[in-house]
Amino acid sequence: MIYRLLRMVRGSYGFVALGLFALLFLTALAFVFLLPVASVVVLLGSILLLVAVWLGGELLGWLERVLARPSLRRGICPTCRSEVVRTEVTLSDDPSLQPPIDPVPKAVLQCTGCPRMFLESGEEYHLDPDFRIQAAHA
Ligand SMILES: [Zn+2]
Repeated sequence: MIYRLLRMVRGSYGFVALGLFALLFLTALAFVFLLPVASVVVLLGSILLLVAVWLGGELLGWLERVLARPSLRRGICPTCRSEVVRTEVTLSDDPSLQPPIDPVPKAVLQCTGCPRMFLESGEEYHLDPDFRIQAAHA
């Protein structure tokens, strides 16, 4: 419940931050001719606020990982409560596909109920479209 709420907040966090900075821009623009000092103060405050907004995003990500880890250790998807299975990651044999730039994890926890995949750290893993995950043959 808390995880899903946090996930929802984190999903819209970037748009809320963008809206906040757009609002600050319009405020600074409105004050340019009326009170130029206020525009400078809003500009400098926005630069400091950017650091705070970035730290808030990092905190949300850390909390999401911390909340996802216990249920992933029990083999349960933190989002839909279905079973997660450990899947080895292998690169596709298709020569037309380029190898991924980002480092590829050795294994991911793949949910059986929804298309989500997670890393051991609790972070959701987004599949690179340049390669496919193949199920382990065991
Ligand atoms: Zn799931």
